[in-house]
Amino acid sequence: MPWHQFHVKMTENSLSPAAITDNLETRFIGQRVIYYPRLTSTMDVAKRKAKQGAIEGTVVLAGEQTAGRGRMKRAWLSPKGNIALSIILRPSSAYLSSLIMVASLATVHCIEKVSGLKSQIKWPNDVLVNEKKVCGILTESDVRGNIVDYAIIGIGINVNLRLSEFPEISPTATSLSHELGRDVSRLDMIRCLLVEAERLYLALPAGESVYQEWRDRLVTLGKKVQVRSGEATYRGIAESVASDGSLLLRQSDGSLTKIVAGDVTLRQ
Ligand code: ATP
Repeated sequence: MPWHQFHVKMTENSLSPAAITDNLETRFIGQRVIYYPRLTSTMDVAKRKAKQGAIEGTVVLAGEQTAGRGRMKRAWLSPKGNIALSIILRPSSAYLSSLIMVASLATVHCIEKVSGLKSQIKWPNDVLVNEKKVCGILTESDVRGNIVDYAIIGIGINVNLRLSEFPEISPTATSLSHELGRDVSRLDMIRCLLVEAERLYLALPAGESVYQEWRDRLVTLGKKVQVRSGEATYRGIAESVASDGSLLLRQSDGSLTKIVAGDVTLRQ
């Protein structure tokens, strides 16, 4: 067995909370990991744990998900060998709209660091490698008035997904192993994600840098797009994004429409 495969096998066997938290250079994100070999959805369990008072930074991690979800009740496939995790945060309401930026930038940085692959962000919540979806991100929160009880970042990454086994997504999806032609260590990716997510999260109060880098990484800007939001469909050029994450769409009549990164579907 070539050394890199052997190494991946070794580290995969040790995908345990202890292996993840061992000397992890974070203050709170990932210092507590709740691991389930098989789980319906890390989002649902994280929500329950957050309601029960789990401390900020608690991570719910699944070896595989049986009912993973994307936005608008869409299914997210997350079989063995991939990453499905949710991070419980307790931010001030001012930072809620930035969490999607934190999650997508952390993913982009770690894909590059761990696999060497370049990735890009498709507004509002996908990370792409070679124009195909490698990661989906969800953020959910419970806010009463102006008080955030909890916010949860969910990250699903196709690390070692064999596309031939999932024809329903293979035209639009890819995985790190598919792009590289070899398996990639989930442990290395997870540890990197936790460190990067914390670094970016803690950088939010300092101002513009997270937003600016997120904006610069968007493949969407300058492109002709079609956005579906509820019953409405908008067409135009994706001109820019605001610091709250919403998309500014220039329509053919010259008007500029602000589209909030909620339940929208974007086609390029
Ligand atoms: P789209 O990516 O079609 O614009 P979206 O961003 O709203 O939609 P998400 O909610 O992020 O989609 O993800 C759900 C969709 O992603 C599913 O409808 C399915 O088409 C696709 N999908 C499901 N599992 C995976 C996966 N593991 N990798 C890539 N794509 C997936």
